[in-house]
Amino acid sequence: MVLAEIETVLLDEARVQVGVAELARRISEDYQGRDLLLVGVLKGAVVFMADLSRALTVPHEVDFIATSSYGSATETSGVVRLLKDLDREIEGRHVVLVEDIVDSGLTLDYLLATLRPRRPASLEVCALLQKPDELRVEVPVRYKAFDIPSVFVVGYGLDYAERYRNLPYVGTLRREVYERSGGG
Ligand code: 5GP
Repeated sequence: MVLAEIETVLLDEARVQVGVAELARRISEDYQGRDLLLVGVLKGAVVFMADLSRALTVPHEVDFIATSSYGSATETSGVVRLLKDLDREIEGRHVVLVEDIVDSGLTLDYLLATLRPRRPASLEVCALLQKPDELRVEVPVRYKAFDIPSVFVVGYGLDYAERYRNLPYVGTLRREVYERSGGG
């Protein structure tokens, strides 16, 4: 069942899960015998991170970091700040940053610049989605499941005004939803 507010489903639940399983397979292969730490970017990556973590066959720990970007509900402003830092040091550890979606790339660029000086043994990025046409800074995304067009999407962790994160698929919202809430 698709929610009435959803206009189109870009990736249904089955496709999302196939994408996550493939990423987990690659990461499990690459990090065998290494001290792996998954760092989820709050809040959007929570749903993805939970599935990815459970699909990994290598031991690993998880931590979270939170950023905020000033701007409207559906557009990045380009200014990123740290809202919550990691709980633990990452020096000498193999870190994989887990992001829901790479849009302009500015959030990841900021996070990589923040974490690199802490001297992790390695630092890679895993993103479920990317909008390749929106990229403003070059970011190295080692693990990515899907490229999507430049449209605002919700579901599978992604929100509009904090809603729709719980949907098991990724889709676009009907125009009325934005008009009703006055956002976007
Ligand atoms: P970037 O810094 O790469 O421009 O944006 C990354 C962040 O913007 C994502 O982590 C996500 O929070 C938000 N974002 C970018 N595109 C979308 C989208 O289509 N839908 C939602 N809900 N958030 C998005």
